[in-house]
This record gives sequence, C-alpha cells and structure tokens, in this order.
Amino acid sequence: METIHEGGCVCGTVRFRAVGKPRRVSLCSCSWCRKRTGSLLGVSVYFDKEKVALPSRQLRSHRLMSDAGRWIKCQFCIHCGSALSWTLEFLPNYRGIAGGAFDDPAFIQPERYVYCQHKPSWLEISEDISRCPVMPNSPGQ
Ligand SMILES: [Zn+2]
Ligand SMILES: [Zn+2]
Repeated sequence: METIHEGGCVCGTVRFRAVGKPRRVSLCSCSWCRKRTGSLLGVSVYFDKEKVALPSRQLRSHRLMSDAGRWIKCQFCIHCGSALSWTLEFLPNYRGIAGGAFDDPAFIQPERYVYCQHKPSWLEISEDISRCPVMPNSPGQ
C-alpha cells in the first residue's frame, strides 16, 4: 500500500494528492522559485506524473523560461494564486509540486539544492544535500 500525500492551495479550493515516494526533491533558489514563493528558496517535490491527481478546473497555467533557458509550465489556483504544480521541459514525465502545499510535509527530504549560488549567507544546509551552483546539464554549461 503506497502512502498518499494530500495538499492544496492556501484558499482551499484546489486539492491534490500524490501517491508513493517522490522521484526527486530539490531545494532551489533560481529566480523563478524565489518569485513564485516570495521566499529565498523553493522546495520542489517531483512525482511521476501519473502518480499525481490534480483537478485542473480551478487552475490556470502560465509558461515561462527558466534561468537555464527552458520552459516551465506552472499551474496556480485562479482564486488565491498559489503556485501548486509545474512541469519542466527537461523532466516531462515528472510533475513538480510545491513542498509547502502538502498538508503534512514531514515526508519531504531534499537531496539536492540547485542554484545554491543564490543561497542566503545566513542559511545552513545539511552536508547530506548535494549542491549545484546552477542547474546541472543546462545548455551552455
Ligand atoms: Zn486557492
Ligand atoms: Zn527553481
């Protein structure tokens, strides 16, 4: 029996669930993660896309370019604007979910920190978390 992780947007209109273990959990301080969260880093939890149930009725999406020059398609609640989920051009079979949107985020264990070149100087990150100054394998890197 796989664990079910539920969550939702800040106004409660949009609810989602993801099943099983995440495929990847990243901390990220790229400019998009900073702007979408209004914070200095984002927590991105990636599941196989078929493991995520997220009704699109109350969502709107927009597409933008990442710092690595690839597209991000981001979905947000039309009522409260919470950015909940995204698909990345280079991970098309994964679905990213905002870590803070889960009701119980205790299962979230980041394994990498990308764009750590923007890490705030006062923030200490565990040695167990690998660090990449930018996005690995970016075009032109
Ligand atoms: Zn909402
Ligand atoms: Zn990012």
